[in-house]
Amino acid sequence: MKSATLLRLIAAAAVLMACSIPTRRADAFYPEEHQRVARLSLYLLGEMYPATFDRCLKLDGRDSIIRTMRYENISYAPEKPTLISGLIERIAWESLSPDFFRDLEFVDVDFSIDDPHDDSVLKNDDEAMYSTKEDLFLEIFFALFGAPHGNFTSYNHFINIGSYGKSRFDDYDGYSYQFIQEFGNQYQTDAKLLGKALDEGTIWYNSDAYVHAPGQQWYDGCSPSVERYSFPTRYPSRVEELKVRFPLAKNIGSENCGVPFSVFLPVDNVARFWYGRFLETGDPLDLGPIMHAIGDASIPHHAAGYLGNWHQAYETGMTDIVLAVVDSNSDRDEIKKIVESWDRIDGDVPDGLAPGDYTKTPAINWSVEDLVTWMALHAYRQYIEDYEPHYRSNRSHVIFFDKARELIILGTAMNVIVLKKALSEY
Ligand SMILES: [Zn+2]
Ligand SMILES: [Zn+2]
Repeated sequence: MKSATLLRLIAAAAVLMACSIPTRRADAFYPEEHQRVARLSLYLLGEMYPATFDRCLKLDGRDSIIRTMRYENISYAPEKPTLISGLIERIAWESLSPDFFRDLEFVDVDFSIDDPHDDSVLKNDDEAMYSTKEDLFLEIFFALFGAPHGNFTSYNHFINIGSYGKSRFDDYDGYSYQFIQEFGNQYQTDAKLLGKALDEGTIWYNSDAYVHAPGQQWYDGCSPSVERYSFPTRYPSRVEELKVRFPLAKNIGSENCGVPFSVFLPVDNVARFWYGRFLETGDPLDLGPIMHAIGDASIPHHAAGYLGNWHQAYETGMTDIVLAVVDSNSDRDEIKKIVESWDRIDGDVPDGLAPGDYTKTPAINWSVEDLVTWMALHAYRQYIEDYEPHYRSNRSHVIFFDKARELIILGTAMNVIVLKKALSEY
């Protein structure tokens, strides 16, 4: 074990203690909330468009990708429903599952770079992992502090609206610590992190790690998410793009190296991939991850690109708000009215959206990536107008109940229109 690893252990312990709610994750809309919103969306689809809903129930496509997906076995994931539970429950479960995919591999570099997949005694110092759970040394700290595990795949569940005009890969980039350092404000610090901000501390902990991506040595298909969610427009190929996105690391944090200088895939690309899969396969389970992407795009912190700034506290607050929307007849009526207003053919379909395009009215013939981006534009506006000023002057968590509820209502309506779109286009 090198000294950087020791430092990582201390930092990780501090980060994990800072995330004071055991058995919950720090960087994802909670599983049960994704599941509840997906269930409500399918129910409303059935009420509004019974013929389309019936078509969903009769689908018999089988997607090898989603059906053979390897999941992180994390204790707080609700149990996977069986065939007997019915299709709706299974789709709703797949809407929480993307946070548990084992499809983004980090390699922790020790000494000089070597084959992370070679376990032989003399060559096994570099360690490949899909979640913090696989870090042998960290397990000791997990045991001591009872802290939650993090799965790396959810780094792909952000879309940084602030990167518009400055983005490096897509019209809006995904999570990138380098971007936060240059353009962002990190307010939430923790004494246990020696005063470091949450993004800073978490990323510092991963500064000697890199994302194992195509084009790199020893890559053997171990990070399928980056291949699936990359749609290059500025590079000649996926491999070329991914090589620049995910620079290699050294055994200590260094300029332009590793996770801190990586640009993860944006969440609208996640939706685009699963939407495309659904149209190819007709597997209703592919609809789940699309709804996950819409849910994550509707979290202000995901749209602003922060792991910290009371992101986790905001998502904890979602539980009551989601339950309130699910139980409210007037909210359901409002969702239906919104869906009806979007169920139209736009004669002037946008090709990408600028931050000011939140004023546009979505339509069923918009691309799924623009629909997801539109959702994120609304979440981002709340971040900038309401949350950022509060964080700046108060340095504390807040949740504006009505605002958060507004995003859940819009997100549920977006699920319904995207489900209808998918089921009509298949
Ligand atoms: Zn989140
Ligand atoms: Zn997520």
